[in-house]
Amino acid sequence: MQIHPVSIVWHCPLDVSAYVALGQQIEVGEQACPGPDCEQRRLGGWSGYWRWARGPGTERLWIRRGRCSRCLRSHALLPDFLLERRLDDVEVIGQALALGSVGGLGMRTVADRLGVPMTTARDWRRRFQLRAAALAAALVAVAVHLDSVAVVLTTDGETAALEALGAAWQRARTRFGDRVPAMWRFWSLMSGGQALGTNRSPPFRQRGGADWMVLIP
Ligand SMILES: [Zn+2]
Repeated sequence: MQIHPVSIVWHCPLDVSAYVALGQQIEVGEQACPGPDCEQRRLGGWSGYWRWARGPGTERLWIRRGRCSRCLRSHALLPDFLLERRLDDVEVIGQALALGSVGGLGMRTVADRLGVPMTTARDWRRRFQLRAAALAAALVAVAVHLDSVAVVLTTDGETAALEALGAAWQRARTRFGDRVPAMWRFWSLMSGGQALGTNRSPPFRQRGGADWMVLIP
């Protein structure tokens, strides 16, 4: 089966409120079609859709779409503070995962602290546990691509995935400076919004090589 992403995550300099405030005026820079036969063809504008995002409040925001003139597919252009099919700001999701795995808190406590439903927090955690090994491996590959010094993970499972994320992010920051977004947005960007996707969607699909660097403007 050919895997073709439905969303493209772009590096968004705005916070959630600023993004929401722009409504349909939101501007997305040029994006290339990830289709295997499309040779990075630039996507043309293709309207968009409203979706909900839970940040400081629950708000509706406009997601632009881009369409490829070659394969004729359209792609949702997700700002990097979102993950595909997740309502919450990736920063909140990341905090929940860190509090649960590294912090050792129960997900009920985590959910109370962050003001999200317990079932939601539990679902994030479960998905993260299932994805942890694949995420850790992909993130280590990115880190080593940035700086060939080996990444030594001191643990396994979820905490290893977090360690690997920290290593990849640090190395990206060292190399590209402030152009690299904050860590959890980086996570979304690198995974194409699939960091907590289903097991059939490989994390960091096309980001193992140098091609992901085009994501950092
Ligand atoms: Zn295409």
